[in-house]
Amino acid sequence: MAVTRTFSIIKPDATRRNLTGAVTKMLEDAGLRVVASKRIHMTREQAEGFYGVHRERPFFGELVDFMMSEPVVVQVLEGEDAVAKNREVMGATNPADAASGTIRKELALSIGENTVHGSDSEENAAIEIAFFFKPEEIVG
Ligand code: ATP
Ligand code: MG
Repeated sequence: MAVTRTFSIIKPDATRRNLTGAVTKMLEDAGLRVVASKRIHMTREQAEGFYGVHRERPFFGELVDFMMSEPVVVQVLEGEDAVAKNREVMGATNPADAASGTIRKELALSIGENTVHGSDSEENAAIEIAFFFKPEEIVG
């Protein structure tokens, strides 16, 4: 299997609870490498642009407000089959449905405050990485 990249966000519920390191350790223990990382406070424009595919969903306003509420850590992760590996360690969107040992099962608070984002395809990973990082900010 090829070494690929995916995009991750450590969400405000995690930065607020000082869990940046705990989340990153779970990603690293799963075999992913952090090849870019920065802590940012998302603007409304960034949050609405990033989650634009969910614009028509009933929770869109709540999601945007949450992502702007506190700092987040945006990361590029690298590893074998990185998109699938990251989705596996993240667990299901709703922590109540997530398997034990996953980030969302162990750390998330609710379906909204669910600790991490991870790209759902290699195509979206490339788009999401480019949304937040310049090529020279990624050092593999
Ligand atoms: P993410 O895209 O954040 O990695 P995901 O791919 O598991 O999560 P999506 O269906 O893409 O889930 O939803 C994006 C985000 O919107 C979810 O992570 C969650 O924070 C929020 N969300 C999804 N469904 C709901 C809901 N029913 N109520 C509130 N928030 C929701
Ligand atoms: Mg998603």
